[in-house]
Parts: sequence; structure tokens; C-alpha cells
Amino acid sequence: MARVYNFSAGPSTLPESVLQKAGAEIMDYKGSGQSVMEMSHRSKVFDDIIKEAEALMRELYQIPDNYKVLFLQGGASAQFSAIPLNFMNGSGKADYIITGQWAKKAYQEAQKYGDVKAVASSADKTFSYIPKTKAEDFREDADYVYICMNNTIYGTVYKELPPVGDKVLIADVSSCALSEPLDISKFGVVYFGAQKNVAPAGLVVAIIREDLLGNARDITPVMMNYKVQADADSLYNTPPCWTIYICKLVLDWIKEEFGSLEAMKAHNEKKAKILYDFLDSSKMFKGTVVPEDRSLMNVPFVTDSDELNAKFIKEATEAGFVNLKGHRSVGGMRASIYNAMPIEGVEKLVEFMKKFEEENA
Ligand SMILES: *Cc1c(COP(=O)(O)O)cnc(C)c1O
Repeated sequence: MARVYNFSAGPSTLPESVLQKAGAEIMDYKGSGQSVMEMSHRSKVFDDIIKEAEALMRELYQIPDNYKVLFLQGGASAQFSAIPLNFMNGSGKADYIITGQWAKKAYQEAQKYGDVKAVASSADKTFSYIPKTKAEDFREDADYVYICMNNTIYGTVYKELPPVGDKVLIADVSSCALSEPLDISKFGVVYFGAQKNVAPAGLVVAIIREDLLGNARDITPVMMNYKVQADADSLYNTPPCWTIYICKLVLDWIKEEFGSLEAMKAHNEKKAKILYDFLDSSKMFKGTVVPEDRSLMNVPFVTDSDELNAKFIKEATEAGFVNLKGHRSVGGMRASIYNAMPIEGVEKLVEFMKKFEEENA
């Protein structure tokens, strides 16, 4: 069996031991005589899975007790609508920071529901940095401030949160979920689509401070009403059972393999450094992001020629390094090196890049 090194931005590589475990349990989950794909979401055996997934999430992220953990569907993109519908309910104003395509899509969707302001943007330089903000940039009566924490397409990440004071901060952490610790108490809502770092596609996890629930607009579709989902323990309707199960296995893997998100972060830093150090020393390849805002998860890079980029992607694919083509809005290449990408995968990629540089100098 030949497994490639998969640098896809999402859906993305999963830990091999998780895939093996899921494979071993696929016909008969723990003596139930069924696959998790087949069992009732109201059964005791599934209830144990979802409860354990939540408990592990709470433990790893050290989620305070006054936060709900919801397992939802609709992708991160559905939350772009659900967030204004549930939380833009005081002044009807919300402030967004535009750090890339996902933040912009969320901003555009929110405009349907109220007075939405883009308080800062890094569009002027193809989102290659995180724009600085000051406390006075945010409107005093904004119902919330919205950020995209790690910008999957452009490879930037917030290393410091914007100075929003006691305003409700809402963050899309889809592409850095569980890659490092987060002080959840600094946020009103943190949510992530699971297919980047946590599970296959089909699941969104939303961590929501309880006092923010219960004020959704009347027009909110019931499936997007976080209070309804919270009151039903994420079982208002059939949840994505299989994906929740894989999420649980991935959380088990983080706990067993690394022990904590501090250790997960140290691992990710070590791994990303290998690639960034090479990019900083190479004469052919260069990173596209300002060094202080570089993501540990998504690393875009370019050569100075489109032909060379194309040749590199083609030869890399043939050598077993797949999905390295950059997003069409940046061009060049992007290596997504999520939690499950082994260090060895990045070492081998860098070896391959060195060889390519020598051969094409
Ligand atoms: C991938 C991604 C999305 C979109 O996720 P879907 O689940 O496809 O809707 C949103 N935000 C970020 C940061 C992403 O990386």
C-alpha cells in the first residue's frame, strides 16, 4: 500500500493510526455488531461516542464550564449566516476584520442582516499580513467583532488577538483548530469546520459562551439556531455520526501522542520551522507572508516564474507529494502541514525542493 504525503488544505491528511483504528472497527464497533455508520444516533453506544468527543475537546482546549460545545453541520460557511442571525441582536452592528477570502465571505453574508463594518483589511497586499487594529477602531456598540484566526489560503495567523476590550469576539479557527492552545475565555464564540485538522468533512464544532444563547432572530432557520442545538445536546436532528466518531479518534490521538495542546504546538512549530528555514535560505523558493504573521498550518510559497511553479508541482506530485498547488488567488504553491502531517513528510518535501532547486538553477 502506497500512501502519499498529502499537503491538501482541506479535506486533509488524517493520522494513520486513526484510519487504522476506524478500519479495524468498521464492521463491529466495540462488540455492538454494527458500524458507527449504521447505528442510531439515539443509541447508548453512539451517545458514549459524542459525550467522549465533547469531554476530550473540553479537556484539550480547557473549555470553561460556561461554554457549550456543539457538533453541527453545514460547514464553516453555514456559520457565516448563523453568526449574525444568532448574535447580531443588540445594536444590529458588527465589526469584521478582513484577512482573506473566508473573512470576506463571512462579512458579505453578515451584511444581509445588519450594519456591518470592515474595520481593517489586508487586501492591499494580497492578504500577506494581519492588519494592526487599535481599541478605538471598533464601534463601542458593536454586538460582536469577527476574525478569521488562521487564513488557510494566504498562510497568515493572529499571534495576538485584536484589542476588542470587553466586546464579544467571534473567531473562525477552522484551519488552526487544536493545533495549539487557545484561551477560550477571551472569545464569545470559537468555531471550526472539522475537515482541516480534526476529522473528515461534514462537521462543524462551535464553542459558545452560554449567556450569548437565546437571542436568535425570529427568522433564524431552526437548524441554525444555536440555542435549539444546545438544548438538544447537538441531537436536534441526526448529527454526522461517523465524522463525530473520527473526531473522537483524532482527539484520542492528540491526547495519547502529545498529551496536551502545548505539546501539539511545540511539535507544529518544530515542523513548520523546517520548511520556513528552507524558504528563507533558498534562492528559488520564497514564502509569501511577512515573517511575523506566518501560519504554522498553511505555508504558501512561490518561485519567480509560473512555468517553474507548474514544473515543480508536476514533479512533486510524481514523487508522492500531492496537493501542493496554491490557491488560484495567490498562485504558486501551498503546503498545508496540519497536526496529522508527520515531521518526516516536511523533511522529505524540503529534500525534494533542494534537489529541484539544484537541478533547475
Ligand atoms: C475551509 C474554510 C472555510 C470553509 O469551510 P466549509 O466547511 O467548506 O464551509 C471557512 N473558514 C476557513 C478558515 C476555512 O479554512
